Amino acid sequence: MNGLMMEYPLTLDRIIEHAGRMFPHKHIRTKRPDGGMHDYTYADLHRRSRRLSAALVALGVEPGDRVGTFAWNHYQHLEMYFGIPGAGAVCHTLNVRLFPKQLAYIVNHAEDKVVFIDASVLPLYEKVSAEIGGVQHHVLVNAPPDIETTLPNVLHYEDLIAAADDNFAWRSTDEQMAMGLCYTSGTTGDPKGALYSHRSMFLHTLGENQAMGLGLTETDVVLPVVPQFHAMAWGLPYACTLAGADVVMPGPHLQPAALAELIESQQVTVAAGVPSIWNGLYHELQAAPRDISCVRALVVGGSAMPRSLIEGYERELRVNVIQAWGMTELSPLGTVSKLQRHHLGLTEAEQLDIKALQGTPLGGVDLRIVSDDGVELPWDGETMGELQARGPWVIRSYFKREPTSEHFTADGWFRTGDVATMTPDGYMRITDRTKDLVKSGGEWISTVALEGALMAHDGVLEAAVIAVPDDKWSERPLAVVVRTAEGGADTDELRRLLGDQFAKFEIPDRFVFVDALPKTSVGKFDKKVLRARVADGTL
Ligand code: AMP
Repeated sequence: MNGLMMEYPLTLDRIIEHAGRMFPHKHIRTKRPDGGMHDYTYADLHRRSRRLSAALVALGVEPGDRVGTFAWNHYQHLEMYFGIPGAGAVCHTLNVRLFPKQLAYIVNHAEDKVVFIDASVLPLYEKVSAEIGGVQHHVLVNAPPDIETTLPNVLHYEDLIAAADDNFAWRSTDEQMAMGLCYTSGTTGDPKGALYSHRSMFLHTLGENQAMGLGLTETDVVLPVVPQFHAMAWGLPYACTLAGADVVMPGPHLQPAALAELIESQQVTVAAGVPSIWNGLYHELQAAPRDISCVRALVVGGSAMPRSLIEGYERELRVNVIQAWGMTELSPLGTVSKLQRHHLGLTEAEQLDIKALQGTPLGGVDLRIVSDDGVELPWDGETMGELQARGPWVIRSYFKREPTSEHFTADGWFRTGDVATMTPDGYMRITDRTKDLVKSGGEWISTVALEGALMAHDGVLEAAVIAVPDDKWSERPLAVVVRTAEGGADTDELRRLLGDQFAKFEIPDRFVFVDALPKTSVGKFDKKVLRARVADGTL
C-alpha cells in the first residue's frame, strides 16, 4: 500500500520562493571587482532570478538547454544558480582556471547555447572562442557598456534583466529535470560531466543543512571561498538560501589579505574553501594578525587538511575547523567531520585527531570500502579499501556516457576512486586516490599521510608525495617540498620527523625542494605534472 502524501516536486524554485517570503531582508554582499561592496537582499535575489529566467526564455532557451557561466562568486552568479534552472535549463559552471583546450572541449561537449562571462575573464574566453561552436548568445557581466570584444552576439547582463518580464512562472515543473552540470577536473582523460537534477540538489541541500552536516541557520554569515565554478560551490548557495543565512561573496578577491579583511569586516561565521586557501590565510594572519574569532566553522574540503594546520587554527586562532569530503559526482557533499558525544571526554589532541579525519557520512549517503576483488572490508579504522558511495545525490552515469564498470559496480554503487579506511564509529579517512597510492614491495603507502606529517614542520609550506618507479621495490615515494620563507627544513630533519611516525619502508628515499608546487584548476597538488617531471628527468 502506498502512502497518502502530496506529490510536491522538489525543485529549486521552492527554495528561492521560501527565501523570498521568509528572509526578504537578509543580505547578500559581494566584493566588487573594484574593491567596493555591493549589498542587496534575498528579496532582490528572488526578483532578479525570476527576471533572469524570463529573459532566458525570451532569448529562446528551451527546457534542457545548457547555459554556461564563466564567472567568479558574486550575486549575479547566484541569480544564475536560480534563474537558469528556473527557466528549465541547465546551469553549466565553467572553471575560469581551465586550460584553454579543456574549456573549449567542455563548452562543446555540453553544447552550451548561452554563456555568461565576467568581463574580468573575457580575454580568457575570447582566446578559445574560435574553437567553440553553437553558442548563440554571449552575456557579459560587470562589463562597461563600451567594452570591446571579438565575440559575436553579445548582450549585457543588466540590459537583459531590465528588459525581462516580472510575471514569469517558473518552468522547473518536474523534480527530475536536470538543473546543473559540472565537469570533474579531469586528472586523467577527458573531463566528465555530472548532471544534477532538481530533486538531487534539493535533497543535497537538506542533507547539507543537517546538524551533523554543515547545519547552516538564519544566524549565519557564510563566505563561500570555494568557487561557484567548482562543484556548485559545495552546494552553499542553495543551503544558505534555504536557511536564510547572510551571504558574503569574495568576487575575484581571493588573496589571503583580502579574505582576512572580508572575514573580519563582515563578521563571517562560516567560511568554506580548500586547504591551500586556509594555509595561505593562516600564514597571512601570522604576519598581519586580525581577529577572525567570529568564525564558528572554518569548513575545509577538496584535499586533506593537514592536522598541523587544523591545530594552528584551533589552538592559536580559536577557530573551529570542520573538515568535509566530497566529490563533484556527489553534488558534492559526502561526509563531515564533527565530534560526537562520546568524543567529548577526549583530550584536545585526541579530538584534533578526529577532526583530521574526513568525517561521517551525511544521512542520505551510504559508504562502503571494498577490496580489489570486490569484497566488502571491515570498519576497523585500519583496513584500506576502495571507497564506494550511493545515495539520491550521487551520479548514476556521467553526462553523455554509458555507465561502465570502471565507475559503477554491478550492484549500483559509484566507485569514488578514493582509498579509505572507516573507523568502527563511521569516520572515514582518505588515504589516497587509487591512482596516487605508492605500492612499494607489495605494501601500500599513503601519500596523504606523509604529506600531512611533512606539512606539520614549521619550515615546510607545502609537500606532495608521489610514486616513482623503482627496479627493486616497483615503486618508491618521492617527496617534493616547498619551504617557508624562513626556510629551515632539510632532508635529514624531514627524514627524522617522519622516522618518528612511519615505518622505515614508508619514508621517501628522496626529498626534492622546489619554489612552488603545480596545482590543478581547483587548487589541488597536480601530481600528474610532478610524475611527468620525474619521467622527463626535470625533477
Ligand atoms: P572534486 O570532484 O574536484 O571535488 O574532487 C573530489 C576528490 O577530492 C575526492 O575524490 C578526493 O580525492 C578529494 N577530496 C575531497 N575532499 C577531501 C578531503 N577532505 N580530504 C582528502 N581528499 C579530499
